[in-house]
Amino acid sequence: MAGLRKLTLGELAPSMNVERFRAVVGVPEVLAIIDMSVVLVDMHFEKGVGGFYCFESICCERNGQPMRRYALPIVHYGTVNPRDITDYGPPFEVEYLLLSEGDYKDKVLMKHKLQGDLTQFDIVITCTDAHYQKLNMDVGRPALWRTNPDWMREILDKKTKYDKTIERAIARPLDEATYLNILNRAAGDSKASPARQASPPPAARAPAQARPAATAVTKPPPQNMNATPREIPAGGVELDSLLKGPETDLGTGSVDGILG
Ligand SMILES: [Zn+2]
Repeated sequence: MAGLRKLTLGELAPSMNVERFRAVVGVPEVLAIIDMSVVLVDMHFEKGVGGFYCFESICCERNGQPMRRYALPIVHYGTVNPRDITDYGPPFEVEYLLLSEGDYKDKVLMKHKLQGDLTQFDIVITCTDAHYQKLNMDVGRPALWRTNPDWMREILDKKTKYDKTIERAIARPLDEATYLNILNRAAGDSKASPARQASPPPAARAPAQARPAATAVTKPPPQNMNATPREIPAGGVELDSLLKGPETDLGTGSVDGILG
């Protein structure tokens, strides 16, 4: 990663992390699984923290069993003719496809068995629910990106970035101390923000600042963050659906803050 890079005004910096594949209803997409190097993820999502990897401790006490997800490396074809789904091609992007356990078993593993090797084929994606990323995955033609050595080189090049950033792209690695710090800071901020604007005397702020760590930690989790498996809808609750929820800006913001 270059520390300093020259851009021209209006140009946006490329994302530091590999991006997640997302589809929308009514727009067909075509992708191919690059290889079966699957990343298994057990994670939580909590307001004020964002998506983070389970560390099998107080995270589970507060949020219930972690959500289990599978991330696969994919080539996302950039141009797809919506009137002819067999007409697609470059530009290519290497992204990750995040699947629930059910989708991984039913839509990837089963097809992988039937086809012999699913990575040799392109997959046509249609989306039935963008929020939960409910996807139909239909096996298509032999993988187009494998038919051209230049394309293969380009994609395997981009896969390097994938390998380097997939872990931090999916969720936030946290240890217990950092997690508790974030919770305490969030609790302090939500108490202190209005007070700070009104510039109260220090005494008035003292109670908020003196909140013991245990208060935040033992507070029951907000109901919709109680992500036990039985609460996951059939298509699976997807991380980014949650991340994009209106109440979760704080979470993603603080992830950027920590990593940036
Ligand atoms: Zn946990």
